Amino acid sequence: MYAQVVFPLPFRNAFTYSIPEEFVDLVKVGVRVVVPFGKRILTGFVIGINQTTELKDKIKSIRDVLDDYPVFDENSLKFYEWISEYYISSLGEALKNSIPYGTEVESKRIVVADRDYCAELLTKEKKQNSIKAKLLNILSQKEVIKISQLQKELKNKNLYTLLRNLEKLGAVSILNELEGAKVKVKKVKCVKLKKSIDEIYEYFPELEKKSPKQVVILLELISSRDEVLLSELLKKTKTSSASVESLVKKGLVEIYEKEVERTYKETYQEEIKEITLTETQQNVINRISEALEQDKFETFLLYGITGSGKTQIYIELAKRAVAKGKSVIILVPEISLTPQITSRFINYFGNNVAVFHSKMSLGERYDTWRGIISEKYKIVIGPRSALFAPLKNIGLIVVDEEHDQSYKQQDISPKYHARDAAIMRAKFNNCPIILGSATPSVESMYNALNGKYHLLELPQRIDKAQLPIIKLVDIGIEQKKKRMESIFSKTLLDEINNRISKKESIIILQNRRGFATQVYCNDCGEVILCPDCSVSMVHHINKNILKCHYCGIELPVPKACPVCGSLSLKFFGTGTQRVEDELAFYFPELKIERVDSDAIDKKGKLGEILNSFRKGEINMLVGTQMVSKGLDFSNVTLVGVISAETTLWLPDFRADERTFQLLTQVAGRAGRSEKQGEVIIQTQNSKNFVLQKVIQNDYKGFYEKEIQLRQKGEYPPFTRLGLIEIKDQNENRAKAAITEFASYLKKYEKGLKISPPTEAVIYKLKGFYRYQILIKSFKKTDPSGKLLRNAILNSYIEFNQKSKFKDVKLIIDIDPQSII
Ligand code: ADP
Ligand code: ZN
Ligand code: ZN
Repeated sequence: MYAQVVFPLPFRNAFTYSIPEEFVDLVKVGVRVVVPFGKRILTGFVIGINQTTELKDKIKSIRDVLDDYPVFDENSLKFYEWISEYYISSLGEALKNSIPYGTEVESKRIVVADRDYCAELLTKEKKQNSIKAKLLNILSQKEVIKISQLQKELKNKNLYTLLRNLEKLGAVSILNELEGAKVKVKKVKCVKLKKSIDEIYEYFPELEKKSPKQVVILLELISSRDEVLLSELLKKTKTSSASVESLVKKGLVEIYEKEVERTYKETYQEEIKEITLTETQQNVINRISEALEQDKFETFLLYGITGSGKTQIYIELAKRAVAKGKSVIILVPEISLTPQITSRFINYFGNNVAVFHSKMSLGERYDTWRGIISEKYKIVIGPRSALFAPLKNIGLIVVDEEHDQSYKQQDISPKYHARDAAIMRAKFNNCPIILGSATPSVESMYNALNGKYHLLELPQRIDKAQLPIIKLVDIGIEQKKKRMESIFSKTLLDEINNRISKKESIIILQNRRGFATQVYCNDCGEVILCPDCSVSMVHHINKNILKCHYCGIELPVPKACPVCGSLSLKFFGTGTQRVEDELAFYFPELKIERVDSDAIDKKGKLGEILNSFRKGEINMLVGTQMVSKGLDFSNVTLVGVISAETTLWLPDFRADERTFQLLTQVAGRAGRSEKQGEVIIQTQNSKNFVLQKVIQNDYKGFYEKEIQLRQKGEYPPFTRLGLIEIKDQNENRAKAAITEFASYLKKYEKGLKISPPTEAVIYKLKGFYRYQILIKSFKKTDPSGKLLRNAILNSYIEFNQKSKFKDVKLIIDIDPQSII
């Protein structure tokens, strides 16, 4: 028997390996195998099995099998094939998404032995110098050992059959360890009493005199009546482990290790609300249920304004899917939205929900992922990578806030868009998919209006809550009227005061992190740029450093201008830290918390902040776009935006759309209950069309103008874009390489519009010079995008075969979200 194997590397072919006798039962489509490849040993994915092969060359054989259960099934394989074809990656690169979070797999496996049992087996062994006996000898002495170590010590590579037989007897377990042994079964130390309480009491008089601390420990153990975590015991009793140790020596208590399953605990909690669905909600549910009941693939765009009760619709439909014995995927954008929607799902489905969270530890991810494979969970909630959860029998997929940018994989190949890929996963699974948003992406709305998706609307807020009143405050005019105090307009400050006096809560948005966003020299005008990126450094005041938000480099704040030596350095631009700082100055009595990726550095931190915010212990949140998404707090009545300009002026065809979405979403946090909400947006262009549409709550008006601009500019949804980027630390090499690539592309020009090679807007990033080619293919003439993909793939192959610049970094991005 032969297996077809692909590798998570950029090469595209599948390779044939023979399956040794001992692995025949184990090798299936979807398992990972370890094989020799050239001089290397690699881990690959089995994508097919054949009885025969036509290959004549010497065929190498599989060395090891990593999985007991397939990590993907044949149905998912089709899905991964689609991803690799559409986004132009190798199949192996696409399949890499099927293992938890792209952790590099290596052939590191460990054996955990039952030492006593191995010793017993050893005595029964007849030939004491057989490999088996030697193996048992080692295992009876060592509990945990790497297979590679065993192979070395025994000078024998073929131990798998032996080990598997021992595993069947229960003498060892063979575990897969991920790279660097980062993921292990987790153990914690526990303490419990070793004698009865009455016996313990007899020791008290003696102990009280000599070591009162030990009495405290015993009392704590007595009152808890059960085992206690050692760490908690020490914390509670304010004692040291030495005291516990001496109790162990006296035989009064014991310390032992216990295995724990790591699951992510959401810190944010909400009470279950009794909910009677509104008629509109019910209609939406009925419509989607039709598809759900018939196992029919259908894409729904759920356009429901902020606070219209979309989450409850997801929950109801998930219930129906689960009742049918199906599983459900709920995708949410990054961490910010997760706490509230997650806690609502947990309220309804309890332990059936697996949560993937970007702040989870590797171990938590690994355990959760294994739980999904063993079908412990019916519902998976998480960011874009949760789309690849190894669920079986999917009955419903939800992409909440479908317009969100974080659904696009920006970092590694394949650069998939989780919303679009989710539609394909639903298609292969014959199930409905819901794309939900209050501000649908222009593409999705276009598809819905053209019948490709089914449009469902929720035009009203729950309980007739009113949308907030939105005001623009023109900073220029306010300045002339002397109504600005630092970065705040009097209008905003007054309104904050007003809301505080009513004990209402406030959210302030400034979509920039840090303190000052630019440091420049007052004399020569030089702006301090990152040495590796062509972007300005941001001042972070609490650490007093300059930080690049693209590469993360941190530098001390210079005392003088690096160009002319002038001491007159100015700090310019406003980040969240500065907003927080200044608000604390104007409102010293307020409890303010900052919510941005600098502040939310620990797991559970956001949940804690939101808990206190809900209870009113925190009055105000100041944050980046993280505060704009999904938060649902009835006491928030005021939203302030310090500057609408942070996204408006980006040189990108989606800049208007992003601005509209961000402002509408953040505005939607206000007035979600009886109390009327208000939104104040400070801006320098109050006449701007996008801002006008935001204050009128006019999504459709915005959409109509935007779709015309897209058509005129030949942008999606009228065209499909492919972006080729070449980057290199050597400027000339990057330039020569992109010019060469362009010459190959030229052959396929027909039907496409190919830009000449240009410098990227952010020309230098992390020390690499970047050049781009933008290719447009028209949906009218190339509806499937095949022309585009062929052009790119063929040029790429030719480039790889011929170019002397093969080793420059070449990035292919189909449907890029931004072209800077
Ligand atoms: P969206 O996701 O559309 O912005 P949510 O799903 O967060 O809105 O719903 C807004 C609020 O209304 C939530 O607090 C939710 O619990 C509540 N809600 C949803 N449906 C109902 C209903 N039928 N009756 C009462 N409250 C509801
Ligand atoms: Zn200067
Ligand atoms: Zn940088």
